[in-house]
Amino acid sequence: MAKLEIERSRIVNPIDFDKNGRQAGYLRAPLSRNTAGWGIVEIPIVCVKNGTGPTVLLTGGVHGDEYEGPIAISRLARSLDPARVQGRVIMIPALNVPAVLANTRLSPIDNRDMNRCFPGDPRGTFSEMLAHFLDGCVLPYADLSVDLHTAGHSCDSAPSTNMHYVAAPDVRARTMAAAQAFGAPFNVVFWGVDEGATFTSCVERRGIISLGTELGGWGRVSIDGVRVGRRGIDNILKHMRIIEGAPDTSQPDGAKATRHMMVRDPSCYSFAPAAGHFEPTNTAGETVRAGDPAGWLHFVEDVDRDPIEVRYESDGVLWMCAGPGRVARGDVVGVVMNDYAEPATG
Ligand code: CA
Repeated sequence: MAKLEIERSRIVNPIDFDKNGRQAGYLRAPLSRNTAGWGIVEIPIVCVKNGTGPTVLLTGGVHGDEYEGPIAISRLARSLDPARVQGRVIMIPALNVPAVLANTRLSPIDNRDMNRCFPGDPRGTFSEMLAHFLDGCVLPYADLSVDLHTAGHSCDSAPSTNMHYVAAPDVRARTMAAAQAFGAPFNVVFWGVDEGATFTSCVERRGIISLGTELGGWGRVSIDGVRVGRRGIDNILKHMRIIEGAPDTSQPDGAKATRHMMVRDPSCYSFAPAAGHFEPTNTAGETVRAGDPAGWLHFVEDVDRDPIEVRYESDGVLWMCAGPGRVARGDVVGVVMNDYAEPATG
């Protein structure tokens, strides 16, 4: 295991990750504020360990306006019996708890996107301090990390796992096998956008298997997303042989397994060319074609101004689509995915 960063972290952890049994408590992150110079922010954490075996790390609430992951993880965290476990499961359902309680993507404390703060800084802003703790004090224990996300308020997503295109063939194969076991309708391999400071990049730098999810969005709880997420994390524990049983990867459409997809080309992304009210054409998961309208930007504040048609630039299946109403110029309004094909080079 990599050297831990515990001495440098300002966060106090009550959990002994080497101890057998179930431990539940709160990480204590210092936050000086008007009501308390020595105040703390409490972050729930549950560790269930029994004997030797692999470690799975489950995180939710990195973005505060994404609900399915925190719900799925906290259900597991309340119910997972150590007697059923061979190995270790570390569960942090609401990591960025200030953003979770504020129902926002960005932290209300420092206005940062925590998933752009990695590998973090123990002396940095609140989000950077949290990122450093996760990377330096928890992640080194893990063999596999599942960080559960949705598309937040800005988009809806087809229920899916996702992973970077990892250059090392063996790591890529193990990651795709884990995604297959999770058993979401889709697994999306992508060549990231602005990725260096994300949690996924940190996990990969440490040589640990990294899976993300997109289980919904639009600022609501997707019933299907919770179902896929709950079954998926159970499936992952089975895949890692931490609990007994075979993963159930059957799909509502009768398919036996997840459909591996990819988002590689910049033409997969459609952006709003102006600020306006966006009227989408499709819902996530639908098949779309290049040249078809992704939607229309309306200028309802103007009389007689025609809407702008925004088009798809790629054939495929809609992974994410906008729908918060108001969009800013440059916001993503659609992401199209295609069936996965192993590229000739990374
Ligand atoms: Ca997210």
